[in-house]
Amino acid sequence: MPHTDLPELPESSPSLQHSADRADSSGLQQALKLHFGFDAFRPGQEAVVRDALAGRDLLAIMPTGGGKSLCFQLPALLRPGVMIVVSPLIALMQDQVRLLTDNGIAATYLNSSLDGRTAFERTSAVLRGEFKLLYLAPERLMTADYLDGFLPQLIARQGISAFTVDEAHCVSEWGHDFRPEYRQMGQLRLRFPEIPVFAFTATATGRVRDDIAAQLRLHEPALHVASFNRPNLFYAVKPKSSKTYGELLDLARGGNGDGQDAGIVYCLSRRRVDELAAKLAEDGVRALPYHAGLDAETRRNNQDAFIRDDAQVIVATIAFGMGINKPDVRWVVHYELPKTMEGYYQEAGRAGRDGEPARCTLYFGVGDIRTAEFLIAQKIDPATGDALEQEQRIARQQLRKVLDYAESSACRREIQLGYFGEAFFGPCGACDNCTDPKPVEDWTLEAQQFLSCVARLAQRGQRFGAAYLIEILRGAESQKLIDRGHQQLSVYGIGKARTQDEWRVLVRALLHQGLLEETNDGYPVLRLTESSRALLKAERRLLIAVPPKRERVNGRGGRARKPGAAASEGTPLEVELFERLRALRKQLADEQKLPPYVVFADAALRAMAARRPTNRAEFAEIPGVGSHKLERYSAAFTQEIRAFRAQHE
Ligand code: ADP
Ligand code: ZN
Repeated sequence: MPHTDLPELPESSPSLQHSADRADSSGLQQALKLHFGFDAFRPGQEAVVRDALAGRDLLAIMPTGGGKSLCFQLPALLRPGVMIVVSPLIALMQDQVRLLTDNGIAATYLNSSLDGRTAFERTSAVLRGEFKLLYLAPERLMTADYLDGFLPQLIARQGISAFTVDEAHCVSEWGHDFRPEYRQMGQLRLRFPEIPVFAFTATATGRVRDDIAAQLRLHEPALHVASFNRPNLFYAVKPKSSKTYGELLDLARGGNGDGQDAGIVYCLSRRRVDELAAKLAEDGVRALPYHAGLDAETRRNNQDAFIRDDAQVIVATIAFGMGINKPDVRWVVHYELPKTMEGYYQEAGRAGRDGEPARCTLYFGVGDIRTAEFLIAQKIDPATGDALEQEQRIARQQLRKVLDYAESSACRREIQLGYFGEAFFGPCGACDNCTDPKPVEDWTLEAQQFLSCVARLAQRGQRFGAAYLIEILRGAESQKLIDRGHQQLSVYGIGKARTQDEWRVLVRALLHQGLLEETNDGYPVLRLTESSRALLKAERRLLIAVPPKRERVNGRGGRARKPGAAASEGTPLEVELFERLRALRKQLADEQKLPPYVVFADAALRAMAARRPTNRAEFAEIPGVGSHKLERYSAAFTQEIRAFRAQHE
């Protein structure tokens, strides 16, 4: 457990209060295979399931793709009564209910998308005990109708096994998706003290976690904090250049040119999203845009097309987020610099939720920094026109963290996890800096030049920002500079050998390493620190990961791991069979109006392609094939595999 900032909460411990819950490991594993088709729990899942079965309050924090849903769904099936699951979005409810139903599990939802009659019938069916899980929006759950009518009736007739609060960070104002209705759910604990409350979230910050426990009034909850490391994700940062679009196109077209692997491209502005989506479409990629400026119907259609694999790529602003449960996103590209590390982690984390290899690439150009700084400077109070200084300061701090990440030559995982307070020590073997270390150069001389320039001006009682100092060093001939007499400085023009961008990299490195300070009072100007003097006296050196020159861009990109390796891994025959099974999956999904991943995950298809089961018994052994999927899909898939074998063997 990397996070220790919740001292008042006891560690989780399996409790054996309920005799019915004393399922041994093999019993739980059988249930896992029977209902979900999985052979083993993911790390951390079993402990959560056990605490849930014991009827304790729970606070479980797992990264996206960690497999949270199963941690309450399996207990819902094994405990008496109906589980109420609170979910913030209709799309999320529908997605989970579809997945459960396709596994033969009795689950349903009640929300505003239903007409009155359907809702009434469903309510009666729930009361008759026809469902084990009922998904609800918080605003519905907290109405008097529910609190005084439906819930007590349900308790009397079937019992309620637990209230599960999914995406529980919505309860916190400190989180990024605050929903006031979530706040009211603290009442559940007061009204129904005997029913356990299970809170689940992928949020990474301690403050939000504290808030969840307090707001939901969790009673001595079992706390489970999984590692936030996502070992199946490959992280890379690449310089932005004129080749960037070409690289994106290569990624979208996939390693073998079949362009099947789903991907998300994040941009900052709506205009950028529209442009890029149109350009990709022109180049033959099935790409669609998604941002808050599109009307609701277009957004829904584009999202559905992506989920059903009709569109391969979504180009989006960060408006595209929480509702997306697609587990087989194979790559995420940040085409522009994200605003915060937390945001980056969550957005990149939408890749590879199914645990299969996936790639996260951040493109980083100096121009992005200027855009980001410009946007931060725009944060002004609309009433007074004054700068929102506190907000600007926070935004600058966050931007600096993102820049630290982007420009570092250290293991990307180490930086990300370190940011969330988790100790991880690289090399991780799955980031660009670990697999393709950047050469480091000694820039002490340049650093001294820059710092003495700051010192000279300070002697004259003058302070400036980085841009102007770089002009002096590069010997610019601007009028401002001449008027101020700065052409006379001994440092004037001594830095011509370096480009403006290289100087900027240097300045950021000096700032990151505490060798220079930036004042936050209005316009940021630079000043020396204690450590600057050590560098000026050559007691300290400055090493910099060499900023990639444009020529170098391609060579480095070329050495990167093949994108989309996940889906198309294996021998050529396996790849061919995989593609056939993928087409069959799509066809079966379309017939049932389901997203393909509901039928089978990529991992299941890959296991089929490798093992080539031709009968029911062999098919049952495939991971992801539970009892229900065996009935439903065994015939079609084994037939396809037999046909394939007949052709090739
Ligand atoms: P989260 O909500 O934590 O992001 P999900 O519950 O959606 O994650 O699970 C992510 C993916 O992992 C889903 O495709 C799910 O079927 C799969 N999964 C969950 N548990 C297991 C397991 N024990 N074995 C194999 N796959 C699993
Ligand atoms: Zn690494």
